[in-house]
Amino acid sequence: MKILIVEDEPQLQEVIRRTLEKERYVVESAGSLAEALEKTGVYDYECILLDIMLPDGSGLTLLEELKKLRKKENVIIISAKDSIEDKIAGLDLGADDYLAKPFHIAELVARVRSVIRRRHRDGENTIQVGNVLLYPDNFKVEVAGSPVELSRKEYDILHYFLNRPGRLVNKSTLAESVWGDHIDQVDNYDFMYAQMKNLRKKLSDAGADIEIKAVYGAGYKLVE
Ligand code: CA
Repeated sequence: MKILIVEDEPQLQEVIRRTLEKERYVVESAGSLAEALEKTGVYDYECILLDIMLPDGSGLTLLEELKKLRKKENVIIISAKDSIEDKIAGLDLGADDYLAKPFHIAELVARVRSVIRRRHRDGENTIQVGNVLLYPDNFKVEVAGSPVELSRKEYDILHYFLNRPGRLVNKSTLAESVWGDHIDQVDNYDFMYAQMKNLRKKLSDAGADIEIKAVYGAGYKLVE
C-alpha cells in the first residue's frame, strides 16, 4: 500500500511519514507541486495526502491533472486554509476527504484507512478471495480458517493481489507498490521472485484455493 505525501513543511511531512510507516504503508513524498506532478505522472498510489498551499502553486492543480489523466487515486486534502471554497473545489475535483490543519495524527491515519477500505472493500474490514482471508487492520492471514505466517513483504504482495483478483499486474507496478518508487532503478527483480516463490509455496502448503500465477513475459495474476 503506497501513499504519497504532498506537503512542503518538512517537519509535518516527517511526522506523517513516520506514523504511516509504522502502520506499514510504503510512503513517498513531494515537497512541491512540480515534484508531485512529476511523481503522479510516473507512479500510482493508493492514496495521496495533498496540501493545498504549496510554494509553487495550488494543490488543486494536482487534482485537475489527475482528473485529466483519468487516474483514480484516493486523495485526502490536508489544508491549513480551512476555507469552504477550497473544500468545495477540492471535493468537486474528485478529492475523497478533507482534513483541516492542525489535525491529530491519529485522525489522519483513520481517514487513510477509511478511504482505502472504501476503495477496495466496500467498507469491509476483511478481504476474502476463495478460502483466503486477510485482516488489514492487524496484518493477519487465514487460509481455510487456519492462520498462516507470512513475512512482511509476502503479506504486502498477497494484500496487493487480493485487492485485484483476476487482474494482470506487471512486475514493475507490483515492485513499486510493495517496495517503493525507487525500485525502478534496480537491474533485476530477483528480490521479488524470491518473496513471490515463498508466498506461493506457503499458500499452496496451507491448502489455498487461490494462486498467484505467473503470466509469461507479462507479470502475475491472482486466480481462483
Ligand atoms: Ca503548505
